[in-house]
Amino acid sequence: METNKRTALLYSFYQALSEHFGDMYSLLSHAMPLIENYIGADRVFYYDWEEKKSVLSLKIMSEGLKSYSLQEDIFIDKDSPEIIKLLQDGIMDSPTLDYPAVYVLLKWRGPENSIKTMKTGKMMSSSLGVLRVERIKKNAPFTQDEKEVLIDLARELSSRINLTEVDMYHSAQLKRAEAMNKLTTVFATSLRLSDSLKEILLNIQDTFRFDRTSLYLSDTKTNEIAEGYSVDLSGEFKTLEVGVNIKNELADEASNSDIRLIIPLSVQGKNLGFMCFDNVLSRTPIKKEEVLSLKQFSQQIALAIDNARLFEKVQELSNYDDLTGLALRRFFKENLAQEVYRSKRFNLMFSIILLDIDYFKKINDTYGHLFGDAALKAVSNVIKSSLRQTDVPCRYGGDEMVILLPRTSGEEAKHIAARLLKRVKEIEIPSDLSGGKVVKLTISQGISVYPTDSDDVNDLFKCADDALYHVKQGGRGFYTLYEEIKKK
Ligand code: GH3
Ligand code: MG
Repeated sequence: METNKRTALLYSFYQALSEHFGDMYSLLSHAMPLIENYIGADRVFYYDWEEKKSVLSLKIMSEGLKSYSLQEDIFIDKDSPEIIKLLQDGIMDSPTLDYPAVYVLLKWRGPENSIKTMKTGKMMSSSLGVLRVERIKKNAPFTQDEKEVLIDLARELSSRINLTEVDMYHSAQLKRAEAMNKLTTVFATSLRLSDSLKEILLNIQDTFRFDRTSLYLSDTKTNEIAEGYSVDLSGEFKTLEVGVNIKNELADEASNSDIRLIIPLSVQGKNLGFMCFDNVLSRTPIKKEEVLSLKQFSQQIALAIDNARLFEKVQELSNYDDLTGLALRRFFKENLAQEVYRSKRFNLMFSIILLDIDYFKKINDTYGHLFGDAALKAVSNVIKSSLRQTDVPCRYGGDEMVILLPRTSGEEAKHIAARLLKRVKEIEIPSDLSGGKVVKLTISQGISVYPTDSDDVNDLFKCADDALYHVKQGGRGFYTLYEEIKKK
């Protein structure tokens, strides 16, 4: 073939391959029919060279300018003179086939993918593949000239494979960077730990698609693993049973393998728990660059958990609840103790109402925590706007609130409870938070009275709680005095 023609051919090959290919195999499917055409062959096969197994593993074949994916292994002796010649010259005639066929070597360097080579810190690795070009029908041997063209084409194809692999590597990196960005947003917007954990796990699952991602947290006091959560391929968020030995069984980094990775979560030497990523079912190896990203993620996650815990602690120390603006339990207990003292001294009565939102868990589960929060705020606002200056409302915990009503009889307290219930039923939460649904809230209330029910702080509380329990049992959305249920 004259030089000009050869250059033109190479250039058209170069141009045909310069578009973007998603991966190496789609590149090959595009390139192989071209080679078939240029060289006047009948079939072209592509094999991956799997060095460890000494296997040529067939991946793609093109015939009559169409390409197919195929599966076939050829075991070869890697010390055989033919293979050594192929590695040296880049081309050799088939030693076995009885029609003209040549093997052409493809050789490229791509990003390193395996966990095991992490320790060596290698970022690039050499890979080999082989094309077999056949003239099964024409039965004309490949000339020296044609072989030289084949070597040129193989060199061009190799460099294209390299670029495609590097591209893929970069787009995977980009995807992980995006995930990291999303996570940072989660951390910045949500200080409630339980919300963050769910978002974190879903996000990781979305980015990496492991069989399962789980997160275990240790108790701040005992340091034992106390909570566990997981998300699997289906995207379902689960709370895990945490057995006694979980730490010993799981938290051992030594048990890390290509298909399971455990990363401890710690901040400033403080151990918070660990995360576990596994592909135990699919047995897909976790890639080296994934391990690096996950380590980075884990540091962020550990910080977020630490922050959220700190936030909760600070909240506990403050007298007022951030979400509802109501006084907190500790503050309330002080008030209640004072009220008992004053009422004893001046011979007064007072009541307490213990109030709990009905089916609040379900509301959270159905419409999300943001909606739940809005509901809590709305109920608190009703409470705050329905009471006298001297009354003390408080968020006792979760969706439970308690109201101290000085100088108030049981009958008066019932009137107040009725008013609260009526106003809560009228609450309308912006429906953009509930996907357009109108959600109706109700509350249940239990009332106890000093000194008729008891003159002891804790006892009074228990009486209100018993009354509340009674209302919940009776179907919710109502209120009752302890005195009334005691009679029954
Ligand atoms: P019941 O009618 O028996 O009271 O049923 P319930 O679903 O209301 O049960 P429970 O009172 O035990 O549920 C309280 C729920 O309140 C559980 C918890 O997830 C949720 N919760 C607690 N604090 C908050 C909060 O600050 N915001 C939101 N959105 N939910 C909270
Ligand atoms: Mg409730």
